[in-house]
Amino acid sequence: MARAYNFSAGPAILPTEVLQEAQRDLLDYKGTGMSIMEMSHRGKEYTAVHEEAITNLKTLLKVPDNYSILFMTGGATSQFSFVPMNLLGAGQTADYINAGSWGTGAVKAAKKLGKINVIADTSKEIPTRMPENSELKFTADAAYVHITSNETIAGTQVKEFPKTKAPLVADMSSDILSRPIDVSQFGLIYAGAQKNLAPAGVTLVIIRNDLAERAPETLPELFQYRAFIEENSLKNTPPTFPIYIIMLVTRWLMARGGLEGMQKINDAKAAKLYAAIDASSFYKGTAVKEHRSPMNVTFRLPTEELEEAFIKAASKLGMTSLKGHRSVGGVRASIYNAFPMEGIDALVAFMKEFEAKNS
Ligand SMILES: *Cc1c(COP(=O)(O)O)cnc(C)c1O
Repeated sequence: MARAYNFSAGPAILPTEVLQEAQRDLLDYKGTGMSIMEMSHRGKEYTAVHEEAITNLKTLLKVPDNYSILFMTGGATSQFSFVPMNLLGAGQTADYINAGSWGTGAVKAAKKLGKINVIADTSKEIPTRMPENSELKFTADAAYVHITSNETIAGTQVKEFPKTKAPLVADMSSDILSRPIDVSQFGLIYAGAQKNLAPAGVTLVIIRNDLAERAPETLPELFQYRAFIEENSLKNTPPTFPIYIIMLVTRWLMARGGLEGMQKINDAKAAKLYAAIDASSFYKGTAVKEHRSPMNVTFRLPTEELEEAFIKAASKLGMTSLKGHRSVGGVRASIYNAFPMEGIDALVAFMKEFEAKNS
């Protein structure tokens, strides 16, 4: 078996141990003679999976009691609309911090549904960066403040979340569970699963319960956070297999020292790769140093031709999906929780070799 060093931004690499366990369970889950995918979402086997996934997430993230963990569908992109539909009352304004393509997407979707104030916009800046908290000019009585914790395409990450009076809503799709966070600082957190949690198909939402009460009565039930809270995400059939993988991934994280442990590993991986970029004048990081993402490492080579050759040659060596997002070009190494240190070592060695041959 040869596993690729898979640098994909998403759907992304999953821990090999998790895939092996899922494989062992696939034909016969705990003596039931069927996989978890094939059984009732109301039966005792699946119920245990659902509950453990929630409990593990609560434990890892130290989620306070007045918050709920929800399993929704439609990806982070549908949350761009769910959030204003549920939290932005008529006549109210929501503040948005836009630091890249995903922030731009969130703004665009929200604009259709209510009044939006973009209180900082670094989405077009090169080098890429996050706005400083001191730049933020909040609207008095904003319904909420929306932020993207990690801009997956730009390769930037919020290091210290702003203190806001209004509930802070964060899109954490590309760095959820990669570091400890203080959940009580947020009103709502959401994340598509396919980067750090599970395969695509489930969206994790962590919501402070009182915020769910804001939804207008006219909103269809399955669009209301309230309905998901009341029915423990079981009003309709949840994406059972991705939730089962969340259970396995959270167990895997707990065995690695939880989020503190994972952050140490992630920082060590990122430091090694950024050090290789900084040690050369051939490679240039795309993000300002203080805001560099430990999840998505973006850099450029002297020419687009060299970038293309680099990506192609790396791929031949089993280092796949290093191409930057189609909207920005360049090289992007996505090194989420499950990405192994050996893959970083392989990439750094290849970078040195490629530079020696081509500079
Ligand atoms: C990938 C990503 C999204 C989009 O997620 P989908 O699940 O495809 O809708 C949104 N926000 C961020 C920060 C992302 O990285």
